[in-house]
Amino acid sequence: MTNAELNDQDLDQIRRICEEAGIKLTHQRLEIFKELMTARDHPSAEDIHRHLQKRMPTVAIDTVYRTLATFDELGIARRLHLANNRNLFDTNLAPHHHFICDACRKVEDVYWPDFDSTALPEEISAIGQVRSRHLELHGLCTACLEQSGE
Ligand SMILES: [Zn+2]
Ligand SMILES: [Zn+2]
Repeated sequence: MTNAELNDQDLDQIRRICEEAGIKLTHQRLEIFKELMTARDHPSAEDIHRHLQKRMPTVAIDTVYRTLATFDELGIARRLHLANNRNLFDTNLAPHHHFICDACRKVEDVYWPDFDSTALPEEISAIGQVRSRHLELHGLCTACLEQSGE
């Protein structure tokens, strides 16, 4: 994780979204947003809090939870509900899926446009209407594979 500064585009985007939602972009919210955007690797609220504490020692974990929930509602970030994982947050809002390493629990983005556009099996319509699809792929990442000698 780096502490790279946000680019102007990201900053404009969150300013505009907060303004439209009538939410004040406080210093804390902005700092949490910065941390989220520079993480780029599905951080948990705890990860963000830990990193933030280096710059803002008084920031409370509850503030981080609440702010991330707000970001999720505003569509700035997406809360992921993955099996075997704590609540993680994703700033990649493009349609994508996730590969989860069952050993190190790393979460990688997976793009599969063919899957996204494939017609769904007919029997699904008897169950209900699909609004989104998200695949959770489980296995071992290449680093863990090497370590296990497989
Ligand atoms: Zn792994
Ligand atoms: Zn993702």
